[in-house]
Amino acid sequence: MSQGKQCPICFEILVRKEGAPWVVCGGWDGVSAKGPTRFFGIRGTEAEFARCTGCWIEEILSDQGDLKRRLRVASQNELVELAPWEPSIRDDFCRSCSRRLALLNVMLLRNTDEELDVWRRDH
Ligand SMILES: [Zn+2]
Ligand SMILES: [Zn+2]
Repeated sequence: MSQGKQCPICFEILVRKEGAPWVVCGGWDGVSAKGPTRFFGIRGTEAEFARCTGCWIEEILSDQGDLKRRLRVASQNELVELAPWEPSIRDDFCRSCSRRLALLNVMLLRNTDEELDVWRRDH
């Protein structure tokens, strides 16, 4: 199926995975629901995500992760809540980046080539 597709950031071969719909933690093993699924976009872009409440608090409100850096958003003011849709629980996943393709694709949208090179070097 999608075997052989490469990670757009580190070029590792992606694996097809089932998880939860959340763009950050949904591809990780053994992650359980932390509050309701909510939907958001980045103001002025076509990027759209499903996320759990846990990631919202950890990554966006209290800056414990690197999501804002990956998406190049300065604060939650750049994010807009969207009407819910049926989120996919299947996605390609990069084991090296430990991120799902949905998120890696938004990184591509949001980062310049030079900024992506920094992510590649950090590997
Ligand atoms: Zn989450
Ligand atoms: Zn990768």
